[in-house]
Amino acid sequence: MSVSATYDVVVIGGGHNGLTAAATLAKKGKSVCVIEKAEAFGGMAREVAHLLYNLHPKVARELGLGALNEGKPLSTISLAEDGNHVEISGDTVRFADGAAHPDAAAYAEMIRRLKKFAGVLGQLSTKTPPKLDGGLTSLATLGELAGLAKMGLDLKRLGKKDMNEFLRVILTNAYDLVLDEMPDGPLAGALCADAVRGNFVGPRSPGTVFNLMYRLGQGGDVRLPKGGMIAVARAFEDAARKAGVDLRAGQGVTRVLIENDTVNGVELEDGTVINTRAVLSSAAPKATMEMAGIEHFDVEAARRMRHMRCKGSVAKLTLTLKDAPSIKGLSWDQMKSRFLIAPSAAAVERSFNPVKYNELPTAPVIEAVIPTLSDVEVASDGRHILSANIQHVPHTPEGGWDDAKRRHVINTVVAQLETHMPGLAALVESPDLLTPADIEARTGAPGGHWHHAEMGVDQILTVRPVNGMAHYRFAIGGLYLCGAAAHPGGDVTGLPGRNSALQLLKDGVLS
Ligand SMILES: Cc1cc2nc3c(=O)[nH]c(=O)nc-3n(C[C@H](O)[C@H](O)[C@H](O)COP(=O)(O)OP(=O)(O)OC[C@H]3O[C@@H](n4cnc5c(N)ncnc54)[C@H](O)[C@@H]3O)c2cc1C
Repeated sequence: MSVSATYDVVVIGGGHNGLTAAATLAKKGKSVCVIEKAEAFGGMAREVAHLLYNLHPKVARELGLGALNEGKPLSTISLAEDGNHVEISGDTVRFADGAAHPDAAAYAEMIRRLKKFAGVLGQLSTKTPPKLDGGLTSLATLGELAGLAKMGLDLKRLGKKDMNEFLRVILTNAYDLVLDEMPDGPLAGALCADAVRGNFVGPRSPGTVFNLMYRLGQGGDVRLPKGGMIAVARAFEDAARKAGVDLRAGQGVTRVLIENDTVNGVELEDGTVINTRAVLSSAAPKATMEMAGIEHFDVEAARRMRHMRCKGSVAKLTLTLKDAPSIKGLSWDQMKSRFLIAPSAAAVERSFNPVKYNELPTAPVIEAVIPTLSDVEVASDGRHILSANIQHVPHTPEGGWDDAKRRHVINTVVAQLETHMPGLAALVESPDLLTPADIEARTGAPGGHWHHAEMGVDQILTVRPVNGMAHYRFAIGGLYLCGAAAHPGGDVTGLPGRNSALQLLKDGVLS
């Protein structure tokens, strides 16, 4: 066993959260090494994400990534079967041909309210969630509870009407909330699509209003940074390198070494040992537990981890096109939008039905963007890329994935897109489908899940990823979670990484 180096902290996984955690610690003067098992850094942000919805401004500022949050956000166009597509830009809604939309005022009012609520909730996203079971045992606990108390005060400041509304809707379903305010159609469909994105839910599932608020946490703008998500991943990598982090890609951690219930190193695939006082892991919580040795965890913690809900249900389809597609009635500029195929709230709920039984989708919700129209740097030879996130695809369909099932998903999605983009099928050169199972195999995300762990009411805030294992600390001295499975959850936000690093510093493990 050869000891190759010693660091204050080793970070397992060089996804954007691992890189954020590492940069945050290195900026505080700690020696940090990131071990990434893939050949490149960036994790899912690089491999599957296609838009920036939620990068937290604090992370952007602290890591010098402010430019990623600049520039004009993309509009969203919710495609309608009758061609009356709905264009959403910030709080404004109109038909894509410029005509007024009858539900524009109801939409603006609803978004105003949800953003206000999201702002109150958002205060908790930059903090370790309070421990509600330990009483006032320490100053740290008091600090955590103070965050909750401040949220309570801010809730009161909303006024009685809004506070009651917040408490009424927070754990309810998006379907009822939306259809209370407007008739069903592409606008309601768009809201419901955003409320279910990434999770194993339909808009009628409880907690989907919370998910919608999570989306609006940073205002809800959707961005496509120059150079695409590869450039975003590279920006996180550069920030870590600039902060002095040692970055090692190409082989994974196989074991977290423990002595006297405290971390003292990691072992890599080739047997190399790196000594360290703390390990922050952005790998899956269960995998982290296994790397550390299940015998170090109590039976209940291990049981909860085994039952953590993380059934991925979003697939990624990348179509290389011989030429740019068009949509009748939309200008060249509008073709640069984020497109949603979610023709109604009812259609979004129907999209969820097959995946409940591990069946293939028949009319899934689709979010698509053609990045090559906005960014000449990512277009080559006049070809274009259409990137689609397909909601409600099973991780493992009955009988497993085979060529016929993959072909079915590709054909279904291309046919749905073709109804709006005539001639699309003939433009497709090479379709590349990543099922949730492929995503799991490629990135290690448990179940290929968007958030590494379902964002359900039983797995958020003080119980994320599971009850008793929130707060980033992971049972063993010096071992922490820092990936999307930790609070506040997934998307390219950088928050789990940042929060976990700050918690480690607060705990005094390195002093
Ligand atoms: C289909 C799909 C599309 C998505 N699209 C978007 C989008 O457009 N916008 C958005 O904001 N979010 C999107 N997401 C979600 C988002 O990409 C993730 O929530 C986020 O990137 C998770 O980041 P992370 O750093 O926590 O984890 P990851 O990115 O999963 O990083 C974890 C890293 O750890 C490495 N690793 C694992 N085990 C080991 C080990 N033993 N040793 C060393 N390294 C290890 C992995 O290789 C990986 O690089 C999408 C998700 C899916 C599934």
